[in-house]
Amino acid sequence: MAEFDVIIVGGGVSGGLTAAAYLQKAGAKCVVIEKRHDLGCFDPGYEIWPETNVYPHANIYLGGMSPYWEDLELEKYGLRNLNSPVIYGVIGTDGKCLWHYLDPKKTYESCKKFSEKDAKKLQFFWETVIKVGKEFQKLICYQPPNPEYVDKLFELTAAPFGLDGDTIRTMNGIQLLEETFESDYARASLSHLAIGNYFGDFVSEGIGATSVAANNMAWSSSILRGGNHHLVHALQRLFLSYGGVVLRSSPVEKVIIKDGKAVGVRLSEDAVYPEKEIYAKKAVILDLQAPASLKLIGEDIVKQVSPELWAKMKFWKSGMKSSCLALITVKGRIPWKADEVEPVSKVAHLRYMFSSWDDIKEYYYRIKNHDSRAVFEGWYHELVNNVIDPTTISPEGYMTVRCDLHVPAMVQGNGMEWWDENRKKIIDECFKEKLEIIAPGIKNKIYEIHLETPYDIWRENPIGMPTHIVGGDFTDDQWYLGRMPYKMPIDGLYCCNSVWPCPASWGATGYIVASVVAADLGIRKQPWWVHEPTDYFFKNIQRDTYQM
Ligand SMILES: Cc1cc2nc3c(=O)[nH]c(=O)nc-3n(C[C@H](O)[C@H](O)[C@H](O)COP(=O)(O)OP(=O)(O)OC[C@H]3O[C@@H](n4cnc5c(N)ncnc54)[C@H](O)[C@@H]3O)c2cc1C
Repeated sequence: MAEFDVIIVGGGVSGGLTAAAYLQKAGAKCVVIEKRHDLGCFDPGYEIWPETNVYPHANIYLGGMSPYWEDLELEKYGLRNLNSPVIYGVIGTDGKCLWHYLDPKKTYESCKKFSEKDAKKLQFFWETVIKVGKEFQKLICYQPPNPEYVDKLFELTAAPFGLDGDTIRTMNGIQLLEETFESDYARASLSHLAIGNYFGDFVSEGIGATSVAANNMAWSSSILRGGNHHLVHALQRLFLSYGGVVLRSSPVEKVIIKDGKAVGVRLSEDAVYPEKEIYAKKAVILDLQAPASLKLIGEDIVKQVSPELWAKMKFWKSGMKSSCLALITVKGRIPWKADEVEPVSKVAHLRYMFSSWDDIKEYYYRIKNHDSRAVFEGWYHELVNNVIDPTTISPEGYMTVRCDLHVPAMVQGNGMEWWDENRKKIIDECFKEKLEIIAPGIKNKIYEIHLETPYDIWRENPIGMPTHIVGGDFTDDQWYLGRMPYKMPIDGLYCCNSVWPCPASWGATGYIVASVVAADLGIRKQPWWVHEPTDYFFKNIQRDTYQM
């Protein structure tokens, strides 16, 4: 009989794989059971050219500040962090640009052409983020949500704006940005991440304002050498080197519960692993979204232990916001207009395009209302991953830019087929034409375009809901305390998906579930499991930052 201490169902990079790496290193005997042929493939990668891979789900690396770098000694397992001197920037259709630098004084310099007052506020914003970033990340991203922390959460997110917690909790994102800044550029530059809804609805009272702050406070300017998907390889290498077991192409169809305790899982008939029942002496962790977890546990069982939790999982809400991506490979360099304005543009791997602040506001409401104009008239962000690391994502002599447009997952009055019917129009109007405005001549240099609509993303990963790319966005009742619990009300059962905070390459959800399980197993105190967020990043900032 196959038996482990801990079974992890789903090897996603944020939840399952990160948790497995921590727990195995802490001495628990773990197995990761994954339905697909590989781990960490929320969305599959493609070989666009021989030996040239792109991973649409892993373009923006968020783990630069994570404690996993030192806890898990990831450099030893082949992972290497690289920073651009620029965190991100906004490019206007008028050809101007505002860059946010790792050095707050340089952000001031870049902003002062738009407004001296805004420039001072942005410099203060980043100086404060550097001061309170560790406390913020520890509290909000690397511990389970706790009602005791809510006041502190407001206080910390208010600090970079020079506000107090009571004031920020009355504001939405638009009010916060309009009251803080006077220029379109400064407002736009701090809004783009919040529009993506990674920490709650931009226009919701309190949530919207804290979301603007939190999105930016959790950000670094890192990418990984060789491509961001190397995080999956490094975690996997570590997990296997400590004796962990990975079963691929093995869908789990049921959690086995005996006498009120989760004791194992049953694999589907299609699983390639021959034994169909696998047992866990201590814990089962599910890295699946709430409705999928409910199916595996069994509705009757959850209803019996907690009718409220059953209802939440069964009718799991979504704001129905998603992404539409285009991977565009061009011959030679991308002819950014911004390169002529500020040379640092050449090494800025993350940039956002916008037309005006009023358009941004309208765009956000159009997404919320599932209006097709959000797709065709929206603004989008794009990323060139290989500007500071020539080893990634583009064949020699070419460059691949990932363009990502936030969109409604479904356009009102239409089914998901709408996305298939409009593919050509989307490529032409949303991506080629828009890109041409800020990179004149790009249209004639395009070698290949790979489009991924929300429908494609959902088809690739049907356990996800047809919605947000980080796995269901945060409706107001799902903010902070309102998500799934890490520890389920069934003995031995834990979750690391549909939890707070958002899953992504920073592995926060895996880190937290591993801490909770390890504490229950009495193995949390490890001499190596002591590092704090932001330390690794700032310790190595000189070494890792690209020198112009
Ligand atoms: C298009 C796109 C772009 C993105 N861009 C970025 C980005 O730039 N930066 C970033 O940090 N994040 C990005 N993300 C988000 C990031 O990829 C996800 O947040 C992350 O991969 C989620 O990891 P997870 O562990 O929470 O969940 P998942 O990756 O969903 O892991 C769950 C795993 O469970 C497996 N599974 C499902 N059912 C079963 C079953 N019955 N039995 C066994 N296994 C099962 C699934 O196959 C999957 O591997 C993007 C996502 C998408 C789709």
